[in-house]
Amino acid sequence: MDFRARQKKLQSALERHKVDAMLILHAANIRFLCGFTGSAGALLAGRRPVFFTDGRYTGQARAQVSGARVAIARKGLLTSAAAACASSGARRIGIESEHLTVAQLAAFEKALGKGYKLVRLAGVVEELRATKDAEEIERLRNAVEMSSALFRPLLRHLRPAASELSVAARLEYSARRSGAEGMSFETIVASGVRSALPHGVASSALLPSAGFVVLDYGVVLDGYCSDMTRTVHVGKADGDERGIYAAVLEAQLTAISAVRPGATAGEVDAAARKVLKRARLDRYFTHSTGHGVGLEIHEQPRLGAGVETVLEPGMVITIEPGVYLPERFGVRIEDMLLVTGTGYEVLTPVGKELIELS
Ligand code: ZN
Ligand code: ZN
Repeated sequence: MDFRARQKKLQSALERHKVDAMLILHAANIRFLCGFTGSAGALLAGRRPVFFTDGRYTGQARAQVSGARVAIARKGLLTSAAAACASSGARRIGIESEHLTVAQLAAFEKALGKGYKLVRLAGVVEELRATKDAEEIERLRNAVEMSSALFRPLLRHLRPAASELSVAARLEYSARRSGAEGMSFETIVASGVRSALPHGVASSALLPSAGFVVLDYGVVLDGYCSDMTRTVHVGKADGDERGIYAAVLEAQLTAISAVRPGATAGEVDAAARKVLKRARLDRYFTHSTGHGVGLEIHEQPRLGAGVETVLEPGMVITIEPGVYLPERFGVRIEDMLLVTGTGYEVLTPVGKELIELS
């Protein structure tokens, strides 16, 4: 990973915001900028970047951190970062306003003392992370491939009266056996009426003898997340269910074909919504059409109504419209895509025809 190139881009952003340095505490931002994967660290980014961690991580930091001097903070990360601001002459210091807690802010201000200006910067590193470099795309491809390979073998465990939790357990066990570092979020197995919950994490509910099961999951591989959803049917689907499935699939395919560099995130969202509106289902599509994926499961850009972020080559996003009929059932279909120089590439190699399990 080219950490120096990333920090160079950040440095230009810091200059635009007229700050001398920026305190980075959010773990994914730290990993992106200097490679450290541990849980306790602070990066003071700027002309002479310093990475602070505590004694537990001495060896790990020296092995992993690139593009910053490693300092072991004896008196706490924020105290040490404040001392480094003083000695380097940094007076205007950017902070991650979306991540710094009130307590951390107070501690940092106290450690700095008078004469400093803290500048609240939101999403500066996140914006850099939205466009992936070749190595990140490779890792994302690998994560998508791994989770996709788990899908078909899982289906034989989807039987009437199996619990959602047992299905999730099977999936997560095979993910680990395949080499996943973990799941990228809590596995969603939402069956029967629970499929109408857009975020139905696996519960003790039992799969019905006939009904939809929404499977939404992903793995973490080399630090990068995957995310996919397929909705399958246990037993035969009825006419209503088929109709909704077909509408969601059409919305998903239409949104996918709207993906290209230069399009706005809102335009892609609108493409999905328009299809569902024609089917009079748009009011049951209650979330945004997709999101970026990378070191974290939800990254920039967000593909929601009216979002003006322009899609750029190298962005990796999901397209995941859904329809949720309360107390009845729901359907969602989700793929990961790479925005290319001319359009898009669907990364998820799993078919989307309606599967009816007998
Ligand atoms: Zn998902
Ligand atoms: Zn998603």
